[in-house]
Amino acid sequence: MSNDRTFSTWLDDVEHRRRAAGLRRELRPRTAGSALIDLASNDYLGLVRHPEVLHGAMTALRRWGAGATGSRLVTGSTTEHQLLESELAEFVGAEAGLVFSSGYTANLGAVTALSGAGSLIVSDAGSHASLVDACRLSRARVVVAPHSDIEFLRAALATRSEERALVVTDSVFSADGDLAPLVAMHQVCRDTGAVLVVDEAHGVGVRGEGGRGLVHEVGLAGEPDIVITATLSKSLASQGGAVLASEKVRAHLIDAARTFIFDTGLAPAAVGAARAALSVLTREPHRAAAVLDRARDLARFTGAATPESAVVSVILGDPQRAVDAAAACRELGVHVGCFRPPSVPEGTSRLRLTARATLDEEELALIETVLTSVVAGASA
Ligand code: PMP
Repeated sequence: MSNDRTFSTWLDDVEHRRRAAGLRRELRPRTAGSALIDLASNDYLGLVRHPEVLHGAMTALRRWGAGATGSRLVTGSTTEHQLLESELAEFVGAEAGLVFSSGYTANLGAVTALSGAGSLIVSDAGSHASLVDACRLSRARVVVAPHSDIEFLRAALATRSEERALVVTDSVFSADGDLAPLVAMHQVCRDTGAVLVVDEAHGVGVRGEGGRGLVHEVGLAGEPDIVITATLSKSLASQGGAVLASEKVRAHLIDAARTFIFDTGLAPAAVGAARAALSVLTREPHRAAAVLDRARDLARFTGAATPESAVVSVILGDPQRAVDAAAACRELGVHVGCFRPPSVPEGTSRLRLTARATLDEEELALIETVLTSVVAGASA
């Protein structure tokens, strides 16, 4: 870099280009007591302020302290972590569970520890950024498969020279909310001796009987060649992540997953909150179906395609149009997500709405009025 092109000039240039393209992102802190109706968060089940969830967090906080105090391998494992692991595993129908500090680190840890130099990873083109980063860190040969293309997947696996292969995908894709063809993907993995890693971040709490996830819904729970990753930060209203798989995989990850070994354990309050949320969901399984019902309402208000998950995408194309439409919704009392490149492909900037089980009639009436007028204005 020459002397006159300093770091600061480079930052100015990058910012200028982003601003000109309508791609500048801004942090807008929430203020306590905001009256905005939330259609942007991942609190799909409406549990983030549930009394039992708050109580679970506070009880764990008092019992264990504010932080985990160390790596899970040193001082950071409590009996509370272990209980959460077995409860999560039982819920999705897996043999065992291992909790990480986030869904992101769960993906990094699982994918890197199960692959490595001399192996192949085939990743769906729609895989979440954390899976993409996991592939980059893995030192494996990585092939990106066109979205949900089973024939491509079969050919990539069948013609490989590597013995070990991993297929990685979201179960519910985070940007479009569509579902991976898990049964066909698993069959291809079976036929070709590959392991299927499924990120259920948006599946748990929404898909499957009582929110047990898409793997459970399609009858694949407990298969030894499936590894589920999940987050505790969406339906489970807390923070953290998990890998849910066989005992053998769990034992391997404890020895080999760098984001497990070199990261501080999940904070006890987050563990307590997630356990309480899981307990509420188990007792009140109708919450999962209510998410899909509310998502269908949102699609009806906006003309979006029938949703298969909590995520409803209203494609507007141009980034600035999406930013303006999101601002108009906010002005009228509704907080919606706004996704632009690089989170979504060029030309598909959108409002991203997320449904919540607890939206009531009054909120839905206001949402209908706001979305109908904003989307009509933005599309005109
Ligand atoms: N996977 C998917 C599909 C996600 O949407 C997210 C969160 N945006 C993550 C993983 C990461 O989870 P966490 O926020 O717990 O790190």
